[in-house]
Amino acid sequence: MPLKGLLVVVSAPSGTGKTTLCHMLLKEFENMEFSVSYTTRPPRKGEVNGKDYFFVSKEEFERMVEEGDFLEWANVYGNLYGTSKSQVLRALNEGKDILLDIDVQGALQVKKNLPEAVLIFIMPPSFDELERRLRNRGTDSEDVIKRRLETAKEEIKKAVYYDYIVVNDVLEVAFDKLKSIVTAEKCRTDRLKGQMDKLIKDEEMLKLLKEVENG
Ligand code: ADP
Ligand code: 5GP
Repeated sequence: MPLKGLLVVVSAPSGTGKTTLCHMLLKEFENMEFSVSYTTRPPRKGEVNGKDYFFVSKEEFERMVEEGDFLEWANVYGNLYGTSKSQVLRALNEGKDILLDIDVQGALQVKKNLPEAVLIFIMPPSFDELERRLRNRGTDSEDVIKRRLETAKEEIKKAVYYDYIVVNDVLEVAFDKLKSIVTAEKCRTDRLKGQMDKLIKDEEMLKLLKEVENG
């Protein structure tokens, strides 16, 4: 039986506009929830434990790794980040759509563990524009910006393993594409198996479909 909810995984080089686009997606799709990750990195100003991340010690994180609590985990810029397996699977089984904002290493682990996951890579329109956005955001030092641009090259190479690539040039155009991808994925026949009653309200049509489904 396919997972009841849709699992959407979004990655992008830092500064591309992933956070902006993820917020827009969560606003658009009522049934979609953001998966709060665990991390060993210290909270930034304004970040709330349990809302932005669950902030844990390295020891606590390593214990969770040993106990198999993570669907995926990775070391990103020297800090550990992981997605709770039980949290995500519970929500998907309840029929919620889940959005993961994770790095490329983690996204590929998710695809391996749950092939139904939909992987979307958000691409910056150019390196020059990526640099401009990182500078305009004003949250990173010169050193950090340089490191992020170097890392971006490695991340972009992994885009070919994703199901979809969306270039974030004009924000509204990129958002339209993201919305279309999610909408189309939610209509896939193989995803609707066992839950046709969500889509079809007519009793007679539903009976016909269920007869075929049950052989
Ligand atoms: P990420 O989460 O990928 O690091 P952010 O969402 O923080 O990126 O966006 C980085 C900066 O770029 C922010 O200042 C944001 O307002 C801006 N931005 C996002 N998308 C676009 C776009 N399509 N055109 C211009 N600026 C953008
Ligand atoms: P930040 O520290 O800026 O919030 O995130 C840094 C990077 O870590 C981003 O690319 C983000 O997508 C990634 N990240 C956040 N949570 C997770 C997670 O649970 N797993 C993995 N693999 N990456 C994550």
